[in-house]
Amino acid sequence: MTTKAKGKADDETAAEPAKVEEQAPRCGAPHYLPALAHIHCAEPAQDPDRAPGTPDHQHRHQDGEAIYTW
Ligand SMILES: [Zn+2]
Repeated sequence: MTTKAKGKADDETAAEPAKVEEQAPRCGAPHYLPALAHIHCAEPAQDPDRAPGTPDHQHRHQDGEAIYTW
């Protein structure tokens, strides 16, 4: 019984196409607190075709270990 590790030959992770984050527009909404107005939402822009009355998504920005949501 031979148990050779199959699939180890193609261990070329570099060959994997680096899927760069799509160039989707960012929301960019500033934080509602004046003191945090320099914080801008890093979430993708909201769908402009979303149904009327649909609430905004939860804006989110990560700054190191600090995560801001509003
Ligand atoms: Zn947002």
